[in-house]
Amino acid sequence: MLWSGLAVSLILNLVTNNRAVEGLEPGAYDYTKYHTMDEILEWMKMMQNNYSDVVTSITYGKTYEKRNISLLKIGQKSNEPKKMIWMDCGIHAREWIAPAFCQHFVKEILGSYKTDQKIGEMLKRLDFYVTPVLNMDGYVYSWKDNTTRLWRKTRSPGTADCMCNGTDLNRNFYANWGMVGISRNCCSEIYNGHSPLSEPEAMAVTDFLSTNRDNILCFLTIHSYGQLILLPYGHPNISAPNEVELMKVGLAAAEAIKAVHGVAYTVGTPPNVLYPNSGSSRDFARLIGIPFSFTFELRDKGEYGFKLPEDQIQPTCEEAYQGALSIITYVLDKNFPRGAATNVAATLWSVVFAVWLSTAIV
Ligand SMILES: [Zn+2]
Repeated sequence: MLWSGLAVSLILNLVTNNRAVEGLEPGAYDYTKYHTMDEILEWMKMMQNNYSDVVTSITYGKTYEKRNISLLKIGQKSNEPKKMIWMDCGIHAREWIAPAFCQHFVKEILGSYKTDQKIGEMLKRLDFYVTPVLNMDGYVYSWKDNTTRLWRKTRSPGTADCMCNGTDLNRNFYANWGMVGISRNCCSEIYNGHSPLSEPEAMAVTDFLSTNRDNILCFLTIHSYGQLILLPYGHPNISAPNEVELMKVGLAAAEAIKAVHGVAYTVGTPPNVLYPNSGSSRDFARLIGIPFSFTFELRDKGEYGFKLPEDQIQPTCEEAYQGALSIITYVLDKNFPRGAATNVAATLWSVVFAVWLSTAIV
């Protein structure tokens, strides 16, 4: 009796699991809609199931409300040591286009790495670490109802003398913390927290980046809105040692973006093209030695702002995808020069040709 009960429940389980996976076949997931946190978590499971040879999931922290913060690690197995590319979306809850972009990015690289030589090369040399929604508590809250749709911060409580909830995660990192473009009022949208890394979400990212700092080549953090590519630093008096190169790479990305649908992105440091700020994850990444660190501010320039209509999800993601690829291609070529192997082959061929030529003359 017990065994038959067990067998029935096992079969039922299998059927239910299969159904869950079947319901989320790649073609079935709608990338032109915004999705709830639960749907995005299901999507993450689906990507692991459907691409189990190249996708795994890593949980690297917990939010204030005890949700597991997870990323998808995407890359082909290799005997050679690999480098890392970081991408996070949804650090600010209301910027719904950002998580939509992370999902689009993952779908595109997984759908093309077997047929597109450039993407294939990327996945051989690099592992992508993509967090679709970093500020999960805030994201869930922004889906609650119309009154919470524009929530930006985390959901941690204020202090004894300040009753508002939430810290601006992108002011909470240990990078010139509290210096410019922040507020000490916990009710402000840009409250930087009672101390650096007061937020477990910022702590989780900090731990991950610090542990892997020598291997991470590129840090991309996706926001909206404004159509900007921002480089470090947010503080007006501090500049990155490779600012000229960052600017060059950023401008090339903006060109790649414009080539898709003609949309113009502006490139620069926050004080030059937006406003000064401090305590951002982008600045922290550059500060600990990750050479290429950029913030993307996706569409638009304020017409719809954070409530970007769903019919703009696809074009926004298509163009930003080319921008991200432009940066990652530069980083890949710089660290894994293709010239080396090609040059050896070219030299060998010219020797063979010279020998043949000399024989021919004689
Ligand atoms: Zn933002």
